[in-house]
Order: sequence, then C-alpha cells, then structure tokens
Amino acid sequence: MNVLRRPLRSCNGTPPALARSVTRGHATSRYPSPAAQKWSHPPSSTPIADDAVVTLASKPLHALSLADLVKHGRPPLSQQALFSSANFTLSLLPIRLAHRIQALRNLPFIVVSNPNISKIYNNYLHSLSTLLPYNHKTISNLEDEIRFTDVLADLVDTHSHTIPTLARGFLECRKYINPQDVTQFLDEHLRARIGTRLIAEQHIALHLSSQPHQDPAVNIPALAPSYVGVIDTCLQPASIINSCGNFVSEICELKYGVRPTWIIDGEPGTTLAYVPVHLEYIITELLKNAFRATVESGRSHEPVVITIAAEPESPRGGRPSAGEGTDLNKTGGIDDTGSIKPIDESAPGVTIRIRDRGGGISPDVLPNIWSYSFTTFSDDELPGQQNGSMDALNALTGAGEGSSIAGLGYGLPLSRAYAEYFGGGISVQSLYGWGSDVYLRLKGLGRLQK
Ligand code: ADP
Ligand code: MG
Repeated sequence: MNVLRRPLRSCNGTPPALARSVTRGHATSRYPSPAAQKWSHPPSSTPIADDAVVTLASKPLHALSLADLVKHGRPPLSQQALFSSANFTLSLLPIRLAHRIQALRNLPFIVVSNPNISKIYNNYLHSLSTLLPYNHKTISNLEDEIRFTDVLADLVDTHSHTIPTLARGFLECRKYINPQDVTQFLDEHLRARIGTRLIAEQHIALHLSSQPHQDPAVNIPALAPSYVGVIDTCLQPASIINSCGNFVSEICELKYGVRPTWIIDGEPGTTLAYVPVHLEYIITELLKNAFRATVESGRSHEPVVITIAAEPESPRGGRPSAGEGTDLNKTGGIDDTGSIKPIDESAPGVTIRIRDRGGGISPDVLPNIWSYSFTTFSDDELPGQQNGSMDALNALTGAGEGSSIAGLGYGLPLSRAYAEYFGGGISVQSLYGWGSDVYLRLKGLGRLQK
C-alpha cells in the first residue's frame, strides 16, 4: 500500500498543484511561479493510504436535506435511531474530508507549504485517519457508538481554529496567489466546513440528548424541548439579536468607549426552525459592522434599527393543515401540547433588515466587501501594523476569543455563506453619505447545500 507520508505528492509522484499552477499562468511577476520555489514537502504526522483519499474523494457529495438531519432525532430517541444517526454520519464524513484534502492538494504547492495552511491540511488528514477504522463498518452497539461520538468530538475540536489559521496562512501567501483564487478556495472550503460541522455536531447533540442520566458533574445544559440536535425548531431571531447586541456593544465600549444602541421593530415574536449558532454568527458580524460605522461616523447616539418581517404565507406554500405533511422525518416548531410538529419545508421565510446611520459605503469600497480578507479597518493601537487583517488576527490571538470589532474581512462573505446554506441570503444597500441597510433573509430549514 502506498503510504502517503509526503502528502502533496499525487499517485504518480507528480505534484499536481505545481503542474496546474504553471499551466494556469501564475508565473507572472506579481505571483511568482511555484516552479521557481524550492521543492520540499510539508511534514505530515498522519500516514494515510493515498488511494483511500483518492477513492473517497471520487465519490459524489450527498446533497443533504433537513429531513436527513432531523430524521434520527425525534424524541424519544431510541437506541436504534441513535445507531442509524451514527451510521448516516459515518456514510458522509469521510467523503467530505477527502474532498477537502484533494482541494488543499490542488492549491499551488508554495501556498500549501505555508505552516498555517499545511496545519489545516494535516488536521484533515488526521481527522480522516480517525474515521477510517470505521469505514465499511456498521455501528450497532452502544460501545462503538460512544467511541465514534468521541471521534466526532475530537474532529469538531481539531477544526475549531480553522478560520483564523487559514486567514493567517493566506495573508502570508498573498504574494503567491491571486486574490480571486483565494476567495474561490475559501468560499468553497468554508461552505463545505459549515456542512461537515453541522453533520458531526448534530450526531454529538443527539448522543447527548439520548443520555437520560447525565453525570451532574459534566455540566451539559439541558436543551429546550424545541431542539432536535443542534436545530431549534422554535428559534426567535429577536432574542438572538438582543444577546448579540449586548455582546457587540460591549466590544464597542472597550474599543471606542461608547455603547451603541439598537431597536427591534416589525414582528419581534416571529420564530423559525434554524441552527442558533449560525444565526448568532451572522447577527454578531452584521451588528459589528453597523455599530462600527455608527460610532466611526460620529453618530453613536443614533440607534441601529432592526426590522423583523415574517413573509406572508402563500396560498400554495403555507403550513400544512392538521393531517397534512405528517412525514415523521420532518419537524417544525412545537405545538400547544409541547410535542414537535412536522416541518414544512415550503414555510415562509423571515427577513431581517439592519439599518444604520453610519454613513454608508463608498463606491470604491463597495465592490470589494464580499472578498475574504477585504477590510477598511486598521487598528492604530497595534504598533507596526498597516494591514487591518493582520491587526485583527493579532488581536484575535491576543484576546483568544475573537472579540475584535472588525479587521479580518471575513464578516460579510462568511455570513452570506451561512445564510445561503439554508437557501437564504444577504444583500447590502448603501446610501452613501447617510447609512446602510443590510437585508438578511432566512429560509428556515429547507434544502441544504452540499
Ligand atoms: P471587516 O468588518 O472585518 O472589515 P466585513 O466583511 O465585515 O469585514 O466588512 C468588509 C467591509 O465592508 C468593512 O471593512 C467596511 O468597510 C464595509 N462595511 C460593511 N458593513 C458596513 C456598514 N454597515 N457600514 C459601512 N461600511 C460597511
Ligand atoms: Mg465586519
């Protein structure tokens, strides 16, 4: 068996990224040819048979639906349902990881040799190696299921710092790779990561919810009855907006000495089925942008106005009446008796408009706002730095919690990736000289991306 100790070599020994980059015409003065760089292999601590990666990566990605994610989780959760969730998870993750490994191998060699990017590459190899022992096996007893869930928890943990690490890696390599290629890679990679994490976290959450007698010493908060795994079928965006608003205004107070305020109007009582951590990420990033603009334009007394609008139910696409849509694989909100109702994938969406009086976005900045790493932020308090993204990364590393108001340039593109994952979206309207309107559309949990 061909053991891949030098990860970037393809089956026939040709470094694929090197060949591809040269034919792509990267050998310009701006982006020097990788061929001109000294050839060496980044170390890999994880031996994996190369053909295992190639075989897995040649399999198509399974298009997920909400029904896939929740079908194993309807309470009360039987042991059989838990095993089928584990086996379903197992059928997806190795293929997804192998696809990412192949995508990293296809980057120009000089880029993937960067210590930060090769760290991510090795994390993927490591995670795949922990799953391979389960390949072609069926999990059918509790012992295996517990061990498998431990492997998933390790996987989620291993990849928890991917974003700052990749961001640093690509910043360090910016001389060697075209910005459009970076955005394309990151967009695909980070969108794929959303799905992979969701699949792993869903099984971990179902596993935890199946533990009736949890050890009180292991402080696991009890999930509300509206949860199926990591999905809250009765999520109220207004409450997420308020908690994120408090958090972001605290960051503003630390950074600028003022606490911007916000108002929620429209229909604050609206609920939908969604993944709370996704919405928290999006709202935090959008509020950071709105609060920063408000403060920096000297209008911190003007509240940011957040309007929540529930789309009207269409005659054809409304919620099912009693007796309809009783597909037990679907869930959607809790009824008066506290039990979970079927989800209606055609349920109307929710749109949230975040309106600030922060002066808007100038026409020369506007075309760039969706690029990863693009920022107009520069932290003067960090000496010797001229680059907002590096400033933000240094601040992130220092604070350890990622609580910088801006600067990484990932807020808008990554929020859009999260929103689009479930069929929603984000658009920005700038009224230059006045303020910005950001429209966040949430589609509830419809069909997912790959
Ligand atoms: P970051 O906030 O780290 O700079 P983002 O992707 O969140 O990265 O935003 C990119 C840029 O878009 C910001 O640096 C800023 O110039 C501009 N921007 C985004 N939202 C607003 C807003 N509400 N008002 C003014 N400018 C904005
Ligand atoms: Mg931002």
